[in-house]
Amino acid sequence: MRNKLNFTSRRQVLAGLSATAGALALPACVNSSEEKKHYDTIIIGAGLAGLHASRLLEEEGAELLILESNNRVGGRIFTMDDVPSSPDAGGMEIGQMYARARSTVNDLNIQLAPFPTSPRGMTINIDDHSTTMSNWGDWEYNPLPESIKKTPPFALMRSATPTPNPLVELDSWLEKEAQQHDLPLSDYLKNIGDSPLIRDMIDISLQGDKLENISILGELRKGRIGQFERSNGPSEMVVGGASRLPEAMAKSLKSSIFFGKKVTRIERNGNKSIFTCEDGSEYSANHVICTLPYAVLKNISIKPELPELQRRAVNEIPYLPATVFYFTSSEPFWEEDGLPPTMWTNSTIERVFALASIDKPVAVFWGLINGNNAIAFDKLSRAAQENLIISEMERIRPACRGKLSLHKIHSWTASPHSRGAWAYWKPGQITNFSKVYHAPHKNIHFAGEHTSTFAAGIEGAFESGERAAFEVLGI
Ligand SMILES: Cc1cc2nc3c(=O)[nH]c(=O)nc-3n(C[C@H](O)[C@H](O)[C@H](O)COP(=O)(O)OP(=O)(O)OC[C@H]3O[C@@H](n4cnc5c(N)ncnc54)[C@H](O)[C@@H]3O)c2cc1C
Repeated sequence: MRNKLNFTSRRQVLAGLSATAGALALPACVNSSEEKKHYDTIIIGAGLAGLHASRLLEEEGAELLILESNNRVGGRIFTMDDVPSSPDAGGMEIGQMYARARSTVNDLNIQLAPFPTSPRGMTINIDDHSTTMSNWGDWEYNPLPESIKKTPPFALMRSATPTPNPLVELDSWLEKEAQQHDLPLSDYLKNIGDSPLIRDMIDISLQGDKLENISILGELRKGRIGQFERSNGPSEMVVGGASRLPEAMAKSLKSSIFFGKKVTRIERNGNKSIFTCEDGSEYSANHVICTLPYAVLKNISIKPELPELQRRAVNEIPYLPATVFYFTSSEPFWEEDGLPPTMWTNSTIERVFALASIDKPVAVFWGLINGNNAIAFDKLSRAAQENLIISEMERIRPACRGKLSLHKIHSWTASPHSRGAWAYWKPGQITNFSKVYHAPHKNIHFAGEHTSTFAAGIEGAFESGERAAFEVLGI
């Protein structure tokens, strides 16, 4: 048994991974040799963070096992291959500055491409009336006060937050000086005028449950990362769907991935950790990388328990409720009513995006419901959800009557593998938890987008997997 694996430096680990990636053609074994129970390192979760950590550790000769609760790799990367034009339900945009993700894409010969363009513009729908974004400012049904009338509803919150962004570097959000911004987002509403009407409009694209529960500092951090990404050009997509990336990463591994293994308990025993899965199976390892979203981890028993502050971070850091749905239209109803197919609505179906494919400017519609509306939507029966989507679409866009086919609904919140779309910070949480949000506990190292420091989303998952792998390697 090794406590530290043979290595020389972080740079060499990364260089080695890149050199051998193309040569590793063995598929990841699926539930192949269950007799073996003890490993150098066990990785919990075969999302991007877990797969990236696995590739780095394997390069250093580690003997690994990956335990995955789902029946597929990728986690919150999930291409809907059974929906026309295979849209993505989770992460899809690869930013130009996603260095680790792009390096892996290159190693594995995956193709990136610009997103195909769908028709320009956006329909804004309020109750029974619709207009276009370009006519919004002068629209008779625009309910906003004169001072902000021209601001589109989805940009209201952005227009209330300070410019220039006070965070200078990508990790400035962790500095003491930044803590003065760790306040409720609702405090900034005074900049544009607070009213139930403005709150309702902001709520549609809010990345959390309510304004009082979102930290301004967390939003400033996202803004800083977004600025960094946009300054280097538009994002790209994985040709064939984002799932092709984690699938290729899994295929490049020699280690086993055991699917359907929902870890329910991690217990330290001497120098090793014992894992118990829901099906009663047990495994042990010297090192653990746990990539589970905190919304999932908080229901897993860890012995000895995490220190009090870290336990609070795991229990209290919230996840964005989000549900996505997909439909197609047998005819171009947007040509009939003359409005852009992409829509921002104040209906409970919130936002609907027209997605293009290589050969069709509108191949499929992607609906995205966030926050409290997503929670309410998830409580409906499947039949009621389908009925709501179609009836709301037909009310908002009468020209689509009888033309829509609903293909799929996926709730990230209801999924036991994720329990939400992504982590966000409540006011005061960055100040309270910044020292512990990815601190190792005994031989458990934490990874996953929620534990990243510099990047977010897909690149955040890669960054965190790399950090956790280096922690295991002791470098
Ligand atoms: C709707 C949506 C849109 C997004 N868009 C973008 C985007 O365009 N660009 C971007 O950069 N990011 C985007 N993201 C974020 C990005 O997808 C995630 O940040 C990233 O995929 C997270 O990877 P991860 O490895 O940290 O976590 P996950 O992908 O969640 O991996 C965790 C893994 O653990 C497994 N697991 C869970 N519980 C257990 C258990 N008990 N035992 C064993 N295994 C378990 C899960 O099944 C999963 O495979 C989006 C996310 C969503 C939901």
